Amino acid sequence: MVGQYDENVLPDMLPVYYTRLFPQNLFCRWLSCGNSPQPLSNRELSFTLADDVYLRYLSINNQKEFFTLLQKKCPHKLDIGAVYNTKPSVGRHDAVVLARELVFDIDLTDYDEVRTCCQEAKVCDKCWKFMVVACEIINAALKDDFGFQSILWVFSGRRGIHCWISDYEARTLDSPGRAAVADYLCLIMGGENQSKKVHLGSDNLHSSIRRALIVIDKYFDDIVQDQEFLSTSDRLKSFLKMIPDEALRKQVQENLERMPTSSIDRWKCFVNNYNQFCKENLHGMRKMKYLIEEIKIQYCYPRLDVNVTKGFNHLLKSPFSIHPKTGKVSVVFKPDNAKDIKLDEIPTIYTLLDDSSSDNVQHQTNMRTAVKNFQELVFSLEKAEAVRRKTEANTSLEF
Ligand SMILES: [Zn+2]
Repeated sequence: MVGQYDENVLPDMLPVYYTRLFPQNLFCRWLSCGNSPQPLSNRELSFTLADDVYLRYLSINNQKEFFTLLQKKCPHKLDIGAVYNTKPSVGRHDAVVLARELVFDIDLTDYDEVRTCCQEAKVCDKCWKFMVVACEIINAALKDDFGFQSILWVFSGRRGIHCWISDYEARTLDSPGRAAVADYLCLIMGGENQSKKVHLGSDNLHSSIRRALIVIDKYFDDIVQDQEFLSTSDRLKSFLKMIPDEALRKQVQENLERMPTSSIDRWKCFVNNYNQFCKENLHGMRKMKYLIEEIKIQYCYPRLDVNVTKGFNHLLKSPFSIHPKTGKVSVVFKPDNAKDIKLDEIPTIYTLLDDSSSDNVQHQTNMRTAVKNFQELVFSLEKAEAVRRKTEANTSLEF
């Protein structure tokens, strides 16, 4: 049973997990490929040991050394850093960062102002839908708008997802470039005191925003029903603050307060009010041309931790690391399958290593699928790298 997980079993189970189940070979191949032009040995790894002892600037030359290090230190958590111009364990004081995957960190705690089912560390299948929307929107933007191919999606272990982009252009991108990508993907602006956080103007919508809205629309009714954005007077109040026109706001307020509390019915009523209002107030509509879209985005669009994306040497939890608090494996998943993930079905170290657990068989299967997903990504990355190196060699011959 998932609920029986006990942190105290970690020291006994981790060595077995690392030996039998952690995909060490794929892990080293994935990092080696992303290390060009520098070798695997210049990559920083960091371990969190029992009692929160923290080891930074570790490095490995090959899989054998990695295996030995895992057995010796038995990390409760495993993080990955940047690739330096020298072995990070040796020259860390004047080491320069040469490469690093472009990464994204999306965490449900950043959705606490909109999600109503859970708060803080809690997560359920209802609020997981926000992660599904985020994953689909960002994945499409990375592929279609930036042309990236080697995009790895990983469950963070508790309440979020990580994305690692290993394309050469991504891992050699400089800080301003990373900041530009992060800013491009940010539509929600302003802190706690700002009621309306999305402003799309009145020109035609950018194709990436239209594409994001198509994703949101697939899940919007479900999310509105799950989260009941409009059902209590407090939530209704925050919602009404997003309507900039006073006349429309008053009208909507009167109509919604008169209705039963179902959020989906109230939302439909609001959309009707808005459409009617637009017909009758053509010239006043410019400032609210995309109000429906703006509200949908404010409720559902990805909320990124941009500092993780902008920073070169921000450490990020490794795929297949175990979350020390939940025991869950940071499984690799395909973005198209994010919607099928059930939180209870994510393997834990406990269920994987305990044959008598009722979840054992299913969690074993899901673990194998996660490793297979990782393998596919590593193989296609190696292929792309081979092509890139060949092209690079040919180009340099020509001059
Ligand atoms: Zn929830």
